[in-house]
Amino acid sequence: MTLRGCEKNRDCRRRRGRAALQRRVKHLPSIRPSAPVVASSVLRGLCRSLVGSPQLPIQPILCALLAGMLLISSPARSQLVPGSMDVHWNPGAPDCASNPQPPIQVHPYNARTFILRENPCATAEAPFMYLLVGSTKALLIDTGDVADPRQMPLAQTVMTLLPEAGQMKMPLIIVHTHGHLDHRLGDSQFAHLPNIEIVPTDLSHVRKYFSFPDWPNGIAQVDLGDRTIDVIPTPGHYPSHVSYYDRQTGLFFSGDFFLPGRLIIDDAQADLASANRIADFIRNRPVTYVLGGHIELDANGETLPLASHYHPHEHALQLTKQDLLALPAILNTFNGFYNKSGVFVLYSQTRVLLALALALIVILAASAMLLRRYLRRRKRAEVRP
Ligand SMILES: [Zn+2]
Ligand SMILES: [Zn+2]
Repeated sequence: MTLRGCEKNRDCRRRRGRAALQRRVKHLPSIRPSAPVVASSVLRGLCRSLVGSPQLPIQPILCALLAGMLLISSPARSQLVPGSMDVHWNPGAPDCASNPQPPIQVHPYNARTFILRENPCATAEAPFMYLLVGSTKALLIDTGDVADPRQMPLAQTVMTLLPEAGQMKMPLIIVHTHGHLDHRLGDSQFAHLPNIEIVPTDLSHVRKYFSFPDWPNGIAQVDLGDRTIDVIPTPGHYPSHVSYYDRQTGLFFSGDFFLPGRLIIDDAQADLASANRIADFIRNRPVTYVLGGHIELDANGETLPLASHYHPHEHALQLTKQDLLALPAILNTFNGFYNKSGVFVLYSQTRVLLALALALIVILAASAMLLRRYLRRRKRAEVRP
């Protein structure tokens, strides 16, 4: 029997309905992750015509199934604005005095997202900063390790990158991942510029500005105009540490909480809770790259020497969503003092410094005792005839 002329046969009608649906689905070239908006409008039209048809009672079910398939097959990743991490970071130099370096490097990830890095010759910390431009405001995450604009023209560089808004530059909000000096010393360069808001790094200001009534629980948002940034509390490395997630690009900015290198943990319990909080947050979200505050590994995964102005063969800055999801397991290996887990070095700076201070006191006390004993013997030897 052909599908035509089978109005009185129920099975036939069902077969005809399925065939019609298949024909329509086949002609949905836009039901692909690359065009979810077009696909959803086509689906809406298709479902409306199916549900409106009295002959096919299973069509609403098929429609729901189709909608489910569409949801699965069109992850939010497809809506992300792409960018490039094809960049070679300036490694500094073994002898910076005889090899003058540009103090700051700017990598345009895309037309409205900029990664800035202070040269290792300007500061051994060589921190990264991020400028995200929305349609009405821009956000600068961290201001680096150098206050003097003659050594580090950070404000001048950022203002050049900012788009015009009427007669002035677009308003800029300056936020930080945390309050360690290597992430906020550049604040002073912006202090007297117009249209700029600087958010202080202490916990009370961070809680108040982003509105975290139940710190460290909850997620806050910053609206830059057609670009929303999620703010996630991540204490552990620092009490008021936060990470940022850019919904537009899928970039995750993890500061010193997570980076290719040393994971300095001030509060192990808070750090693990933060790692679990982040894992919960990103599990069902697309993450293009995880970008931290420093690179402290070489390409082989070995830690670069501390305080070095030369970073040859650096590890890539970007880590992955899988790396971030694996963080709770890595932190579970932390012995509270100092250990390695994969390429990551985990340590408590406070405890390591205390242990070093204790060792120094013991060495000094032992030296003093030996010296005293030596002087007594010498004195006795002098008294003897
Ligand atoms: Zn830090
Ligand atoms: Zn840092």
